[in-house]
Amino acid sequence: MDAFRRCEKRKSKTKLQLKIFLEFLNNSVSECYNLSIWKKEVATIKESIGLLPHGQAIHYFIARLPKTHDQREYLENQLHRKTAGERGEKKMRKKFQEFHLDENFAALWDIGLIDGGWKTQFDGLVITEKCIIILDSKNVSEDLHFDEKTGEFIRMDSKGQRLILDNPVFQLNKNIQFLKRWLGKRKIDVRVKGLIVYTANQCLFHSKPSGAPICKTYQMNDYLYNILRPLPPDPAPLKINKIKRLIEANHSPYVRRPLCETYKIAYGDLQKGVYCADCKGYQMARVKRNWVCSGCGAKNSAAHHFALQEYFSFVDDSLSNKEFREFCLLGSADVAKRILSQYDFKVFGDTKSRRYRIKE
Ligand SMILES: [Zn+2]
Repeated sequence: MDAFRRCEKRKSKTKLQLKIFLEFLNNSVSECYNLSIWKKEVATIKESIGLLPHGQAIHYFIARLPKTHDQREYLENQLHRKTAGERGEKKMRKKFQEFHLDENFAALWDIGLIDGGWKTQFDGLVITEKCIIILDSKNVSEDLHFDEKTGEFIRMDSKGQRLILDNPVFQLNKNIQFLKRWLGKRKIDVRVKGLIVYTANQCLFHSKPSGAPICKTYQMNDYLYNILRPLPPDPAPLKINKIKRLIEANHSPYVRRPLCETYKIAYGDLQKGVYCADCKGYQMARVKRNWVCSGCGAKNSAAHHFALQEYFSFVDDSLSNKEFREFCLLGSADVAKRILSQYDFKVFGDTKSRRYRIKE
């Protein structure tokens, strides 16, 4: 009997061991299978790529132009305006973090909406239960004068030079009308208000245009409270999330044209080659699977990534193998093909006329 029990025990132990072994085998097989799928997936995951941020694009665009280029000064001025504008919008958003209401509210930034052929860009939209407030940021420094009698709005700089500006109230009123109409078409009847925010530190108002509230960044939240306070509570408070989702779903991003086109600069004027972040030159050469700078010896295996971003920001929204090689001063079509195939591009055209475009 004992012998039988021992035998049975051994058998069940063996069965258990066998079961564990089979489970292990099964898991291993499935792990191996998963691993092979994973390996395949890793091999097919393609790198995404986008344009350079606008200010950065202008900076590196200027860097590829000859020092004596006749458009250089104008572009440097554009770069200054662009970066100051971006800085101003950032300041406005940062200040808004201190905005608070007891009731629900939402904010959207940098929104583009289209109504037929009319496209409007909004720097900021504050959606509350009582109304929507458009935030319009202006980046103008120096002394600002408004003449109520003539309606002229003038900037005087430190050298006494006069610049005539558009009265910002007109632009804001146009945007208010646009948004009211746009929402009205979607059966949303809503009060739309506006606030103009001057973001430059060195901005001095001697007088302000009437017809719309105008403030500086540090005053923005108080001005927003002042707009909201006198408004009677709406018997049917606005459905903030619904409006927010509707606007987000219809947001039409600002389409940037390549800088050569925007500033009418010939492609031939641009210095060719792959940029070296160490010595700021364009002498990176492809050596095996790396880029090596012949000027300073620095290495960067992904230097082509920046070159591609530059090409799409400066020259065209698509490129061919040949154009890529010409821009990067790269000899081998096979190497170029291998690099381009790593990216998640929208590829179109036959083999010979194949072009690669950034995905939306
Ligand atoms: Zn270098």
